Amino acid sequence: MYRGGNQVGGTCIEIRSGGSRILLDLGMPLNDRDGRDFLVDPLKGKKVWDEKDILDLKQSGILPDIKGLYQDDKKDFDAILVSHSHGDHYGLLHFANPDIPVVMSTGAMRMLETLNAFVPRQVPLSNITPAIHNKDISIGGFIIKPYLMDHSAFDARGFFITEKSSGKTLFYSGDFRATGHKENAFKMLVDRPPMKPDYLVLEGTSVRRGDPEYKTEKEAQKAIREVLEKGPRLVLVACSGQNIDRICSLYAEARRAGYELVIDPYIACVLENLRDLPYAGNIPLLENAGMRVLIHKYPCRPGDKYVGKIAKEGCKFKPFIPMLGRKKLKPRDMGEGKYIVLVRDGTVPAIKAIPGYKNAFLIYSQWKGYLEKKHMKLTQFIFESGLDKNTKHIHSSGHADVSTLQALVAALEPREIIPVHTEHPGEYDNLFPRVPVTIIPDNTSKLL
Ligand SMILES: [Zn+2]
Repeated sequence: MYRGGNQVGGTCIEIRSGGSRILLDLGMPLNDRDGRDFLVDPLKGKKVWDEKDILDLKQSGILPDIKGLYQDDKKDFDAILVSHSHGDHYGLLHFANPDIPVVMSTGAMRMLETLNAFVPRQVPLSNITPAIHNKDISIGGFIIKPYLMDHSAFDARGFFITEKSSGKTLFYSGDFRATGHKENAFKMLVDRPPMKPDYLVLEGTSVRRGDPEYKTEKEAQKAIREVLEKGPRLVLVACSGQNIDRICSLYAEARRAGYELVIDPYIACVLENLRDLPYAGNIPLLENAGMRVLIHKYPCRPGDKYVGKIAKEGCKFKPFIPMLGRKKLKPRDMGEGKYIVLVRDGTVPAIKAIPGYKNAFLIYSQWKGYLEKKHMKLTQFIFESGLDKNTKHIHSSGHADVSTLQALVAALEPREIIPVHTEHPGEYDNLFPRVPVTIIPDNTSKLL
């Protein structure tokens, strides 16, 4: 257990059998060794890991010290299994030796591929083994069976792992819930569970969180409907561009209430890059009726920063530019009409160019804790512009509540539970009184 045994974020676990080694996730932690939020340098406003090398990052406790994993070392891993496309599960992957195969779902791979087109740090994606639901993969001394999980990251996976030599089994839940638009994924898992695992490595992000205001994605969608029924002309929604369930909810309610849903070019590419996946039929695309894309600084030079990246030679999304042109909406032309506009850190300048944006209604549709991170551009913007005075927090969690965790344990009947992705591993004993719990603290190992 390199990280995740007693914290949320930066999950990284190694499983070893004889000479075979696989890694479960390689996530970016939320804090460094001293508990500081290291993601952005408050003095320079830069992401600190962009400037540091592997040795530096190991010394500050950001990269776990693992032999045979990184680019500066000889490859000694059979695979890295990535459960989903959230930074706290894949965020350090670009430091890994690119010769190590990475197992992830096609949906997760597409998410990271889109991100690569817009950020300087490239996640290596040349050596991907697709984690297809319910299809075995043989890796070194292990058989891996991926399971589709319902989570706020699109196309998330859990992994059922069998050690070939002994037949011992372990199920890694990754992050999951039972309350999203893909709630059926959870039902399938508990109705037809995999063979009882010896060990269940179980996420526990929410073990001490009380009942949320909106338990399910459908309840959050209904709350969005109620805001739109009141009829504000301009609705800003602070929402992750990767939260596909939420974007589906927003589009459905926008259509119902006669609004146009305005996304930015990055989100337009995120959606476009999922269109050919067989299970992505309900995802709105920019070409759909009622979808628009916010293009800032058009036609002046240097133009929209996102379009500039898409237009680069070799970018997968270059052929998408004519569609961006057909659906473009310029901030200054948004004086009339009813719009729901997604806002993120990167689109704050475009939002500021919308006439009367300070009178908009704000739906804050992500984890509330970000509103306490004053260094985040979006948080600053919300307070500086007074949008915090006309706002509603509408969000449903990506994580399982206690009864969902208990339902999974009851269905899988593991011999032993190992807490992960939780700040309260000690709580597991109370929650699962009939199953032994083994806490493996960070930077310790255990013979299973
Ligand atoms: Zn997650």
